[in-house]
Amino acid sequence: ADGLKRRKIAVLGSRSVGKSSLVLQFVENNFVESYYPTIDNSVSKKLKYGGKEFECEIIDTAGQDEFSIFNAKHAIGIHGYVLVYSIATQSSFDMIPIIYDKIVDFCGVRDIPCVIVGSKMDLQANRQVDAAAAEALAQQSNAAYIETSAKNDVNVAKVFELCLAEIEKKSAPSSPA
Ligand code: GDP
Repeated sequence: ADGLKRRKIAVLGSRSVGKSSLVLQFVENNFVESYYPTIDNSVSKKLKYGGKEFECEIIDTAGQDEFSIFNAKHAIGIHGYVLVYSIATQSSFDMIPIIYDKIVDFCGVRDIPCVIVGSKMDLQANRQVDAAAAEALAQQSNAAYIETSAKNDVNVAKVFELCLAEIEKKSAPSSPA
């Protein structure tokens, strides 16, 4: 009963899908239109989930392509993953199973605590990725799935609550609470 549980969450996905914006909206309740030159960045925020308080350390990653989007430094000590694509960019969705497979390969287990996030859901007129396709991928990967808008602050906190839920669900029953 010494309170705070620490959980490390990595946010991964193609360039400019809105990873930094998602994290900024979650941590600082702020959105800016300007593009963030991304370098790997780590921020912390406390979040209540299931009656417990968690200190979430969120690693906002800055991979550029298929080869740098995920590497070992993004997996060591990580409890859960947030995989972001933009609903307005098909190629960013196509990258999700590639990243997922890299994580599975690295971790050596299939059951990764993971949330698949369709970002920029305010861009309905430019939608290229159907929710049904994303749901199917999530089911296949045994991951949670949600669409968000960092711009309009829709479902942003929910992403991290779902990630905590996945982490708690999939952590070994023998691990200390
Ligand atoms: P990152 O490279 O994945 O970290 O992407 P950024 O967070 O830097 O966002 C890339 C661009 O998309 C920026 O111009 C953001 O303002 C924009 N953006 C991010 N989230 C949203 C959103 O929810 N809706 C819209 N319309 N634009 C967004």
